[in-house]
Amino acid sequence: MPEPRHIQILPDHVANKIAAGEVVDRPASVVKELVENALDAGATQIHVEVVDGGRKLIAVSDNGSGMGRDDALLSVERHATSKIRDADDIENVNTLGFRGEALAAISAVSQFSLSTRRPSDVGGVEVVMSGGKMQDVREAGCPTGTSIQVRHLFYNVPARRKFLRSGQTELSHVRQMFLVYALSYPEVGFVLVVDGRETYRLASGAGSDDRMRELFGAEFTKMLRPVNLETGGITIRGYAGLPQASRADRTEQYVFINRRPASAPMLSHALAEAYHTLLPKGRYPVLFLHVEMEPSMVDVNVHPAKKEVRFRKPSDVRDAVILALRQALSNTHEDSLGGQPRIATVSDTQPLVEIPDLPKARTFSYPRLPMMPSEEAEKTTALPVPGAKSGQQSPSSRPWSWCRVLGQVGGLYVVMETEDGMVLMDPHAAHERLLFERYMRELATRCVASQGLLAPETVDLLPQDAQRVRESLPLLKEMGFGISEFGGDSFLVDALPSCIGDASAADLLSAVAGSMERGGSSGGTERWSEEDVAQAACKAAVKARDRLTLHEIEQLVVDLAGAEMPYTCPHGRPTVIFMSFSELHKKFGRV
Ligand code: ADP
Ligand code: MG
Repeated sequence: MPEPRHIQILPDHVANKIAAGEVVDRPASVVKELVENALDAGATQIHVEVVDGGRKLIAVSDNGSGMGRDDALLSVERHATSKIRDADDIENVNTLGFRGEALAAISAVSQFSLSTRRPSDVGGVEVVMSGGKMQDVREAGCPTGTSIQVRHLFYNVPARRKFLRSGQTELSHVRQMFLVYALSYPEVGFVLVVDGRETYRLASGAGSDDRMRELFGAEFTKMLRPVNLETGGITIRGYAGLPQASRADRTEQYVFINRRPASAPMLSHALAEAYHTLLPKGRYPVLFLHVEMEPSMVDVNVHPAKKEVRFRKPSDVRDAVILALRQALSNTHEDSLGGQPRIATVSDTQPLVEIPDLPKARTFSYPRLPMMPSEEAEKTTALPVPGAKSGQQSPSSRPWSWCRVLGQVGGLYVVMETEDGMVLMDPHAAHERLLFERYMRELATRCVASQGLLAPETVDLLPQDAQRVRESLPLLKEMGFGISEFGGDSFLVDALPSCIGDASAADLLSAVAGSMERGGSSGGTERWSEEDVAQAACKAAVKARDRLTLHEIEQLVVDLAGAEMPYTCPHGRPTVIFMSFSELHKKFGRV
């Protein structure tokens, strides 16, 4: 009598159903897998249709290579793929798929039909499945390419079906997925039909920029700065959102690694670091980043749905991303060398309605240097720096090339006109940004100028502040503070960093001590606390200046246009708010 066996190999349709959970969790992931297959099949047209957010129907058709009858039957088997032959092939995979799981998984948990025809075949074939079981295989007259219909996703997995959200919510995930691939493959034409209504029709053969503009609108893309960097075999291009266009979450961050929409935990840190001091906590920049490198430098087989990747050299990628973003967001100083300042005159902006007796705005102008014609820019640029070819910024990355100050509102905000529209500037935030940049520049070169006080001041601090200051005396001295202990919790201050301007030693020191507390609790390195000290000092210095003369404001405007990060104060508050002419026209119903 044979011993009774307890262990059984699960039948394929059961194994597939279980495994399906890893690859497919909602309609959007079905869309992802089917669109990836279409792209891998070389399609130039992809048509996506959903009904009820994909809960009733998800259909994806393409004009790609199609499959013969045998391949069509194999394609729905688990671990059936035409994209790799060997485990080593994964290292250099340049298709989006390679695990051979998607069709098996999707067909295991839905009512599934696949019709396909190769260009060379007279007729096509249709494979019909239900809950992973083959129902029918028949000849079909169909166009070349592949068309897949997925009905009633999870109809046979009630536990999963329950987790599906409303049609509306599922639809928003589907749409997001659609956008992501449409962005990554601008050369491919895409159509999205929702409940019988066409919501997107994107022409094939588009460039990356055109596709982005088509999807997001020209107004939105004005808030973006081009990113372009090539270094050590890593290429980073795309767009970085200006800080004032930040979001409360990461939904507007599109990151592609070798054209694969994916994230890596390391990348979010790099993004945060690049925008450090530009955005307050809890705000996220808008980003379109295409990161490219040798396939062998990326491990894409970390996650069943390939949502995450790992880099062979994560720190290289991290540094490159930070550098690329910083460059995109900063102004180059090249433009402040040479060239004739352009003085704006009132006639530079052609009035739409002329009001002859309107009092003239002050004709003071805030010239930025003229934009260099690109030819000349090339001539005057030094030899390319090895490894980094992006030093050049498009002139559009400066906040304005000229502007006119029109006045002040609320006793605070400065109103200006620039070539693109109207700008409101918070002079305190702007001032703080400028002081901070000056200070950080001096710190970076380790030569902080220090200004001796006419009369040394004794400053009494709270006990805990005093303790922190005592511990950080060397750092503070390096940062331009002439400071020594004076017994108890008192200190003698006889010099202050001169770039900070004229704040009282007491205000400055207690602001700085307060910031050390916060810096310390965030567990930062020395660099971190240096930055914190500088931030606090600049804030205190600006607070002391509650009066700015017109001349000082004029100087601020000019300096801010040349600042490295002109758009926010070091604490992340905006320095300027733009209202473009097209926004104004729209508000007035002119379009
Ligand atoms: P993978 O994409 O990882 O190879 P899939 O289960 O998604 O696995 O697909 C299995 C196979 O079916 C693919 O390798 C491919 O050969 C074929 N296939 C799937 N979809 C298409 C399509 N739209 N056009 C042509 N061939 C396809
Ligand atoms: Mg696939």
